Amino acid sequence: MKYDCDVIQDLLPLYQDKICSDKSRAIIEEHISECVVCQKMAVQMGDNTVEEKLIKEKNNVIQEHQKLVNRKTTTIGMTMAGILMIPVLVCLICNLAIGHALDWFFIVLTAMMLAASLIVVPFITAAKRLMWVIVTATVSLVLLLLTCCIYTHGRWFFVASSGSVLGISVFFAPFVIAPLSRETKLQRHRAALTVLWDTIWLYLLLAACGVYIHGDVRYWYMAMTISTYIVVLVWIYVLIIDYGKRNGQIKAGILVALSGIWFGAANDVLNFFLAPVGEADGHGLGGLDLSRGFWADDITVLNANWLFVIIVVSVCVGGLMICSGIVKEKREHEIEK
Ligand SMILES: [Zn+2]
Repeated sequence: MKYDCDVIQDLLPLYQDKICSDKSRAIIEEHISECVVCQKMAVQMGDNTVEEKLIKEKNNVIQEHQKLVNRKTTTIGMTMAGILMIPVLVCLICNLAIGHALDWFFIVLTAMMLAASLIVVPFITAAKRLMWVIVTATVSLVLLLLTCCIYTHGRWFFVASSGSVLGISVFFAPFVIAPLSRETKLQRHRAALTVLWDTIWLYLLLAACGVYIHGDVRYWYMAMTISTYIVVLVWIYVLIIDYGKRNGQIKAGILVALSGIWFGAANDVLNFFLAPVGEADGHGLGGLDLSRGFWADDITVLNANWLFVIIVVSVCVGGLMICSGIVKEKREHEIEK
């Protein structure tokens, strides 16, 4: 034999992975056709069923462990649910015993549902735990409010429930919408979907309040005008941040300038729209008089001067950010070329 077995065996891995040169290949093939020891080794190396078996075994162990953990948490969840059922059962028995006079049974039931959604649901859901906790807790809270409202003969249900759902949504809607949008391939639009959901509940709350206080035309007009002024800005944020095609610096610059203008002009724009119903307060930019400084005793002048400063500063800062963003974009284009 021309070559030493050690040399051939060192080359075998390269041969198996088909990354050695044709010359080496020829040498190795010639050697293993004559040498039994190296031939055996080559066959063994080519046979990766052992490795596959090991991987299978490992996956089986992991799966079994996961099953065991799932079974355990489900048991804990079921036990907790059982414990929570005790007061419900006691109340149900009392309720039946005194001939259905206990309307508050349903308050206990829905209160227990709320508790269960917070401490049982995390244990019995296999995936998307946070999402299920938020959804079930919100539904239980609304049901609890409904039963309390019926029990006290109140008419505040819609105000309380729409307010609660809006409050919860502002903080937690992203945690529900993110996993749902991932499944429905709407992930790209999850921010818009979240803001849409919040917008709907804001207007539902305004409507509920209007009905509750028997609001007249002035209430509806004012509530819708003032809220819409703010909602429009929020939507512009979503559209620019999520759908704008320029770089982050330009987008941020636009938003800084726009926010300053939006805030500074708020009084004037709202005064314009609210004047027909006699709700304009006159504290807009109209009283601008910079010669009287920023400590004037006339509130109209003071207000206008400060609003002016806010607009100027935000437009300048935003403008600088936009300029530096454009410069950055140009430089990146040049580098690409
Ligand atoms: Zn050999």
